[in-house]
Amino acid sequence: MKHLKTYTLLVLLLMAGGVKMQAQDFQRRASLRDPLFLDTTSMVFHEIYDFWQQYEYAQFLDYGRMSDPQYKPTNYDFWADSEIEDYGNPNSIIQCNLLPFYAYEEYFMGVTKRNDTLYELQTAFFDDFPSPKQLLGIFTIPLVRTADGFKLVNKLTINKRSFCKKQIGWITYYYPSTYHFDEQAANTAVSRLSAFAEEFGVDGMEPVEYYLFENKTEMFHYFGIDGSCYDFYSAETVVPYGNSKIGRNKICYTKGGESKIHEFIHLILKSVSNGQRFSWFEEGVCCYFGEHVLQTKEWHFDKLKMFLNDNPQIDLSVDLIEAYMDADGRYTHDSTQSVIKYKRPYSDVYSNYGYDIQMVICEMLYKKGGMDLVKRMLFETPNDRALYDSIERLLGIKREQVNQAIREYLREKY
Ligand SMILES: [Zn+2]
Repeated sequence: MKHLKTYTLLVLLLMAGGVKMQAQDFQRRASLRDPLFLDTTSMVFHEIYDFWQQYEYAQFLDYGRMSDPQYKPTNYDFWADSEIEDYGNPNSIIQCNLLPFYAYEEYFMGVTKRNDTLYELQTAFFDDFPSPKQLLGIFTIPLVRTADGFKLVNKLTINKRSFCKKQIGWITYYYPSTYHFDEQAANTAVSRLSAFAEEFGVDGMEPVEYYLFENKTEMFHYFGIDGSCYDFYSAETVVPYGNSKIGRNKICYTKGGESKIHEFIHLILKSVSNGQRFSWFEEGVCCYFGEHVLQTKEWHFDKLKMFLNDNPQIDLSVDLIEAYMDADGRYTHDSTQSVIKYKRPYSDVYSNYGYDIQMVICEMLYKKGGMDLVKRMLFETPNDRALYDSIERLLGIKREQVNQAIREYLREKY
């Protein structure tokens, strides 16, 4: 009888273990910092580490269901209510660096107590692609102890309390006290934005929070991202960066962003989208009417023209978004010829080849039929595959003529 009991217990344990292993399969790669430098005997450490792992598992379960408006994400339960209220999706800040971060190899660095209710965890994510041991990001994430246990809080929420604040129209600018805010440039940009909104047919905007930082490193630091694969890659240039996906009606930009309206236009388009996802053409609209990084459209068009002249083998009737480097170091539209898949067609940080092509299409539409035609392209193109159909319908250019039409347009106008 004793043997039977032991056997039953063993089977139950194995079953439970099996279920647990299956459920936590994705967590198998998380490794802990060396215990020599980490107090793993602490109860609070294990409470927070387990909490973090459960949160990552909830993210894993939510994956793929977030596009369903009826679906209530389970990972939101791990966040403080105020974060959900403030950001909409409270994961936006972390995800702006690394989208499904929980799917990558993790190196958990530890937990630190800041005061009686505030703790911070730090963790890092790696990938073995395109080469081994690629650091994707290091995150510092605060947790508050509440009556319902621990809850996650964004580092930006805590940091913004010490930021300077400036209100212009419906926009509240936030920036660290060391940042020199250019009020004149902001006023000019707000006027331009109002003019765009009026022409686009949008009246009234929800309040927007605009975060400005000296550079990317500072921005990421205030976001709780202490290391990022999107930083430290240009020894030649201060890399400009903006993002409109850091939370509900929140945008951010590096130095000089006061004069730019690109990210605002993304918010305006989102406000009229009725949940519709736009094609790649959305970037064309934002770049054309609101610039891309810190350069004018004329600068981008000139660059695209020269690149296409240098690479006559690229056929824009095949691909309007990517170009690939082939074995001879030439660019091609043919992805099967690609030897360096993610090598950018342009080698600098100011330009985006795919964006520039969409800017040309945007200008062609705007010059032909004004904002109405631009809006039709936006709303009547359900995805990137439909871009050629829309071009034929709205610009009267058949797919096989697109390559020649874009090249000729650039040659004649720029
Ligand atoms: Zn954009």
